[in-house]
Amino acid sequence: MAILNICFILLTALTTGSIDSITNAPMFELISLPYPTDALEPALSQEAIEIHHGKHLKGYVDNLNRLISATPYARMSLTQIVIAADSSIYDSAIFNNAGQLLNHNLYFTQFAPQGSNPPQGILADAIYSRWGSFDNFKREFSKSGSELFGSGWIWLATDHEGTLYIIQEANGGNPVTKGLTPLLGIDVWEHAYYIDYRNRRSDYINALWDIIDWQVVEQRYESSGVVENSCQQAIKALTQND
Ligand code: MN
Repeated sequence: MAILNICFILLTALTTGSIDSITNAPMFELISLPYPTDALEPALSQEAIEIHHGKHLKGYVDNLNRLISATPYARMSLTQIVIAADSSIYDSAIFNNAGQLLNHNLYFTQFAPQGSNPPQGILADAIYSRWGSFDNFKREFSKSGSELFGSGWIWLATDHEGTLYIIQEANGGNPVTKGLTPLLGIDVWEHAYYIDYRNRRSDYINALWDIIDWQVVEQRYESSGVVENSCQQAIKALTQND
């Protein structure tokens, strides 16, 4: 009888979610925006930000926490969940919600109310060597976003050598599943722009260039291992010259 009671308590805990305190599952939280919800106007309206962040992103957070509760995924980082679930045909719901959580966390933290100066330093060098000019890069990126069929994301991503790529991802995809580090991500799901731009996705993408915080993008590039690799290559080149 005592065992049955314990089973009942455990089952109740499982169905109410309080099992997480038993499994020590790290539950994900809705990130706080690093700016007021009206700070990105006119590019993104207060209403659009409040619904996108407070409803859509909140939904992904809640879904993911529910889906991974008491599973091995509960012991993984968000990036690890995306990569692991991508390789399992049984875990597409976890992949979709984890991908969207990772994507939106990167998206909402890459904007600054007044925008910023264009990238400098090694990120600027990498953009120039890949696309010839900053304007060419922006043109290619916007074109890629306009042409993506259906819902998805456009990414500026880097490989381990620091070479840059513009990557189209369908639905909740993220370049981490290709071994790339995401630097800048534009959400081209209709929910990201329909309130402010109706069906005009190109206008939405073009407006975002005014609010990108390139310092954040540079920090992501510099913390992706590029600096260390560049230093190692420089040291190797110097050593070879000796
Ligand atoms: Mn979105």
